[in-house]
Amino acid sequence: MNKQGKLIIFSAPSGSGKTTIVHRLIQGNKNLSFSISATSREKRPEEEDGKDYYFLSVDEFKNHCIAHDFLEWEEVYKDQFYGTLKSEVQRIWDFGKQVVFDVDVIGGLNIKKQFPSQSLAIFIQPPSLDILKDRLLGRGTESEESLKKRLEKAEKEMSYASKFDVIIINEHLDKAIEETQKIVNQFLQKK
Ligand code: ADP
Ligand code: 5GP
Repeated sequence: MNKQGKLIIFSAPSGSGKTTIVHRLIQGNKNLSFSISATSREKRPEEEDGKDYYFLSVDEFKNHCIAHDFLEWEEVYKDQFYGTLKSEVQRIWDFGKQVVFDVDVIGGLNIKKQFPSQSLAIFIQPPSLDILKDRLLGRGTESEESLKKRLEKAEKEMSYASKFDVIIINEHLDKAIEETQKIVNQFLQKK
């Protein structure tokens, strides 16, 4: 892989608002492009294959692991694999754009470690675990079981916040977006 370009990594417990923030950030900056991850989880009704994720079967996913196609991958929830394909990052750099990731905390720190000086790792923190639960319920995308899995994992994930370059508390969305845009723009301007 040719190492070129910058990487902006967003991690947070599910429901913190990182997808919302990442979409708004990318909409407002044509130099940024979203790294579409591969996953073996089921597609949600509003999602599109090749836009939100590359949706793969577990076997397809495992074949990519064996072929070393991933920059990183994780079994984020039991039997639900997520990973960043090297080809995806290269595709974006070849376009002359900088890459934005929405990955779990372990994946985020893993990418940061591989590209320490080229990357900015941002942790999106919900104001509290109760608010996180309300947001996941409000989003209405999770089954009872999946909600339970995400909430159980959230507490552990929150303990990783201090390992990131920046923590943004997503209480008021517009304020969190503004703060994110400012920090990312400063990072992009740095030589
Ligand atoms: P994630 O990608 O971290 O799982 P989402 O971006 O899907 O989270 O956000 C989870 C839910 O919370 C969505 O329904 C979103 O509209 C809502 N949300 C995001 N940020 C805020 C906020 N600051 N205040 C209230 N609701 C929010
Ligand atoms: P969701 O199912 O809500 O879309 O995502 C669940 C979790 O998987 C989120 O924390 C999301 O950031 C993470 N995730 C998405 N893509 C990747 C990836 O490529 N690698 C890793 N490690 N985590 C990912």
